[in-house]
Amino acid sequence: MIAEEFRIGGACVIRGCVPKKLYVYASRFADDFFDAQGFGWNVAPAHFDWSKLVNAKEAEVSRLSAIYAANLTKAGVETALSRASVAGPQSIRLSDGRTISAKNILIATGATPLLEPAIPGIEHTITSNEIFDLRQFPRRLLVVGGGYIAVEFASIFARLGAHVTEVFRADNVLRGFDGDLRAHLADALSHAGVDLRAGVLPSAIEKTANGFRVTLSDGAALEVDQILLATGRRPNTRGLGLEEAGVVLDAAGAVKVDADARSSVPSIYAVGDVTNRINLTPVAIREGHAFADRVFGGRKETVDYDFVPTAVFTTPEIGTVGLTEDEARARYGVVDIYSTGFRPMKATLSGRSERIYMKIVVDGDSDRVLGVHIFGHEAGELAQVLAIALRIGAKKADFDATMALHPSAAEELVTLRTRTLRHVRPV
Ligand code: NDP
Repeated sequence: MIAEEFRIGGACVIRGCVPKKLYVYASRFADDFFDAQGFGWNVAPAHFDWSKLVNAKEAEVSRLSAIYAANLTKAGVETALSRASVAGPQSIRLSDGRTISAKNILIATGATPLLEPAIPGIEHTITSNEIFDLRQFPRRLLVVGGGYIAVEFASIFARLGAHVTEVFRADNVLRGFDGDLRAHLADALSHAGVDLRAGVLPSAIEKTANGFRVTLSDGAALEVDQILLATGRRPNTRGLGLEEAGVVLDAAGAVKVDADARSSVPSIYAVGDVTNRINLTPVAIREGHAFADRVFGGRKETVDYDFVPTAVFTTPEIGTVGLTEDEARARYGVVDIYSTGFRPMKATLSGRSERIYMKIVVDGDSDRVLGVHIFGHEAGELAQVLAIALRIGAKKADFDATMALHPSAAEELVTLRTRTLRHVRPV
């Protein structure tokens, strides 16, 4: 049996990855209309209709949710559209009043937006849960945070025509990503019109007659229509009865699990963002599948967390797999860097100032490729394919021996012969 309090499909399908990617596509037409003119097209001024996009997105999300629901029924799963909480090691209480006993319980409740920083007027903010379905397009948007969600929505709304300001506490966006990619992304966001303010956070928010007045920590003030809080997510474990049932949570509220996804209570397992490990949909799916294989299929599947590719769907986007330059330097004695930056061919005729950047991180002793980081069109698609090569231990020499495909941006990955940098760890 599955218990779901909201809509079948999970955050990714209903208010995460899927609608986000649809909105990314919508936003990129802005660049296409611009480019088209450089290629001989006379394009009449384009007009964007927010409610048309919201309705189209809703139809697609509903279609997908219905498919998931139908597949569950076909697979013989009983669905309870009800909030559930753990009543004991093998007992679940549903908000419709029923108590269900189960041999095994799997917690896959994901995560929920963190409402931080706690400032006066925080109740006026919205999160990624609400932004997809705003009734009115926010002409002036303040984004708070510098992570995946913050930069993706800043990039989307700037292209859809909003005046976007993004504030974050660090010195640059996307902490943890390769430093050169972060610098390229910050440039591209500024170029798209996003007003980036590093080391700044809101300190107070007040409602006004036609929006909100935000006071920032550097003393500046802004008038905006919406404030998107994207300062992280926390595991969805509150009020689930887990601790009462003996399940140990960590300081962030995540369910602590072993390599078999088992919590401190042997009949209770957990997978996905609620365990706060690698918070990505495909990782959660693998963890869920491995759980099913082990507990119901008699197999000994475990999840391999090496070389998990990830993308950040800004425009241009980031695609990355493996170690960053800094991570490699911390772990390996000799690290070789091969990097290149260039203007994409499509931007030449249109005169767009876009740049592509690629970096290959190599273990200088074994020649093994440790990481590849790309900022550019379809970088996510490239990262997915590169993950296969890195997983099977590709060396830089294998990249070099691979024939180029011309003309493409990806051919740079196999033609980068001149080392940009070598880091040797001092002994
Ligand atoms: P992230 O953890 O990526 O980013 C959180 C941001 O908020 C950081 O800039 C962080 O700053 C800042 N922050 C955290 N706490 C505070 C605070 N108290 N006050 C001020 N700023 C704060 O979270 P997101 O919400 O963007 O995304 C959640 C997760 O969802 C991601 O980590 C990712 O795993 C997943 N995701 C994946 C996507 C994809 O694959 N394309 C897309 C969207 C989400 P600092 O850097 O200084 O810590």
